[in-house]
Amino acid sequence: MTDTITERTAEAPHCVFESKDFASGAHPVWCPGCGDFGVLAGLERALAKHGRPPHEVVLVSGIGCSSRLPGYMSTYGFHGVHGRALAAATGLKLTRPDLEVIVVGGDGDGYSIGGNHFIHACRRNVDMLYVVMDNRVYGMTKGQPSPTTEPDWDSDIAPGGIGLRPFNPLAIAIAAGANYVARGFSGDPNALADLIVDGIRWPGFAFIEVLSPCVTFRPEQTGWKKMVRSSTISIEQDRAAATRLVLEDDGFSLGVLYRGDRAAVAPPLTPSIAVTDIEHEFALNERA
Ligand code: SF4
Ligand code: MG
Repeated sequence: MTDTITERTAEAPHCVFESKDFASGAHPVWCPGCGDFGVLAGLERALAKHGRPPHEVVLVSGIGCSSRLPGYMSTYGFHGVHGRALAAATGLKLTRPDLEVIVVGGDGDGYSIGGNHFIHACRRNVDMLYVVMDNRVYGMTKGQPSPTTEPDWDSDIAPGGIGLRPFNPLAIAIAAGANYVARGFSGDPNALADLIVDGIRWPGFAFIEVLSPCVTFRPEQTGWKKMVRSSTISIEQDRAAATRLVLEDDGFSLGVLYRGDRAAVAPPLTPSIAVTDIEHEFALNERA
């Protein structure tokens, strides 16, 4: 997979970092065995490999177990409100395009309350990476079904299951215009690190769905390590074929699904209208 990283390699500074340079030293409060530990390890390895110093990287998150991740890294971080991480990150990237902006969060945060932002972030195609740790449940708030929960998942909160068709994040990302779409697994941090570097370096909005088990509320997800299949989705630049593949997939194929060629959005940083002109336009009529 890494041999396909070509687009922006030449732009990356040639600094030498190790994974530990990106660790904050704070001990994660996640449950022992939580998949999010693997994503943290993958992200640290990816950033060391990418080669930009911690102070040039910003991690933005919303609310949830996985959204605690920025606190465990030495980069800049913004732990915002529920479902709004992409909106904050978009504003940051447009005003500071020199920074590496990475958004992290969970399936509840990103696909439910943040679902609208997800769709429009794909559509806008601002140059940043979005990593969703999907465990098909709301972990922090004690196990409610999320948008990706299976319809027949039985729990105390939803006896018999919710009976709703799960949200398909990869298909929606492609349809909405994301320029890079992939799926990884928390149980293989090295392969995940390669995907993350690839996503960071691909121009435009990159989305990586990471299967990340919640061992507390979905203990059966520990079986995912036997269900995932590495590097089995690689349609690349055919949107229709990529969409068909992901709709027919059982959700456990890993790899890059789609790489588009849309140019990333980069509006000019100089304002088209002066602030004084805006003030003048909205000034109250003193004679009124
Ligand atoms: Fe991880 Fe689930 Fe524990 Fe949250 S509740 S830290 S998602 S294992
Ligand atoms: Mg979740």
